[in-house]
Amino acid sequence: MARRAKIVATLGPALDDREKLRAAIEAGIDVVRLNFSHGDHDTHARRLETVLELGARLGRNVGSLADLQGPKMRLGLMPDDGLEIETGSEVYLLPGVEQLEDYESEGLKALPVVYDALADDVEPGALLLIDDGSLRLVASRVENGTVRARVVAGGVAKSRKGLNLPGVAVSAACLTDKDLEDLKFAMELGADWVALSFVRGPDDIIDVRNRIHALGGESPVIAKLERPEAIERLTDIIDVTDAVMVARGDLGVEIGPERVPAIQKEIIAEANAESRPVITATEMLDSMISSPRPTRAEASDVANAIFDGTDAVMLSGETAAGAFPVEAVRTMARIVEVAERSPHLIHPSPPPHSELSVPKVVSQSAVQVARDVRATAIVVFSMTGWSVQLVSKCRPEMPLVGLTPSDRARRRTSMMWGTEAALVPMKDRAQELLEAAERVLLDGNWAAYGDVIVLVTGPPGSLGGTSRIWVHRIGDQIVS
Ligand code: PEP
Repeated sequence: MARRAKIVATLGPALDDREKLRAAIEAGIDVVRLNFSHGDHDTHARRLETVLELGARLGRNVGSLADLQGPKMRLGLMPDDGLEIETGSEVYLLPGVEQLEDYESEGLKALPVVYDALADDVEPGALLLIDDGSLRLVASRVENGTVRARVVAGGVAKSRKGLNLPGVAVSAACLTDKDLEDLKFAMELGADWVALSFVRGPDDIIDVRNRIHALGGESPVIAKLERPEAIERLTDIIDVTDAVMVARGDLGVEIGPERVPAIQKEIIAEANAESRPVITATEMLDSMISSPRPTRAEASDVANAIFDGTDAVMLSGETAAGAFPVEAVRTMARIVEVAERSPHLIHPSPPPHSELSVPKVVSQSAVQVARDVRATAIVVFSMTGWSVQLVSKCRPEMPLVGLTPSDRARRRTSMMWGTEAALVPMKDRAQELLEAAERVLLDGNWAAYGDVIVLVTGPPGSLGGTSRIWVHRIGDQIVS
């Protein structure tokens, strides 16, 4: 059977060539990520337009994810060759400054930091990590709105490199002014998912969802888990969010790379238990930015995310700025397919339904019925894609096809494990629904005459309320 876990690929200059993009979509991109940390609005719009056009031509259901930058702390502009800061020396960090005329202050080297409240958040003793931790500083004094720090591990500080403060409760709001503008634009573009960076707790998710609704949008929200506070509040965040991302880049800087593997497993298990899609992200095939082949460790990393039960795996720099973007997608697809055929693949147990939710119980039962009657396929009729998601989380072995009258819901299913989707007009009667399901399954070669299928739906003609399971043999007379 085809690959079940989905591939999210970050767009960037590496896929701006139309032929490369086409090849990458054919190779297996399911969702494109518009990374608002880079690129202007016109560029994002042009890229998405080309993706949707190529997806339609190639008959591939490709969704889109708008990833908001969030309050990422960065250095401002540095001299062209960067600024060497020596181990053992002291430097000044000057908050709220974009660029300096003189990179020296009171006889010490000075670094501009694009974050106003640095001196409010940092106390002496705090660790400051620049460029994913390659430069390490410890705050020695905080006075007059500046931070003086001792360089524990020196190197060259370059323009716009990230700054992390592990263990510091950063006061910056989750949505910056830039994020608000980007969010508005993402809604105009019709982004299928919105990812929120540096989530601290459930209120951040509720806030962005309210703003999406106020903008007339309905995109579901992905919580990027990259802060220690978010890991501490994992259950509360999963409770309110639509999906999660294990954002291993910043997470690894904040909590240390050695803790990432276990936390990845914890996040995936909890997301699966609560039927939330989960994306595992960052550095999955990092060496393919400059090499046509992955390292064995990277192949193992992708496969292990699949064994952990992730719904999707993500490519970042590999497809945005790498020299081998198409090969990276192809390689990832192959690793996933082989991992999925492996005897080590553990199907997560069905999500426990802590509170009795009829759609969850119906979805789990439908997958059990499909197994017991040896169904060839499961079809889920859904207005929003949510019930497709519930069935997907039960990891059916047979093809899962979502039928929906909504183009938006169809695109949303592109991130759901093991899910294909087709557009059908709204059906008011059970017979029409079964007829549509038969047609889609036969046309898509998912099933043949005589095969038994299982259909999951709410009351025909209604909006939502998944409550029915039908077992049907294709070709048999349909009686409502
Ligand atoms: C990450 O930090 O792992 C991540 C996905 O976020 P970004 O790529 O936006 O830094």
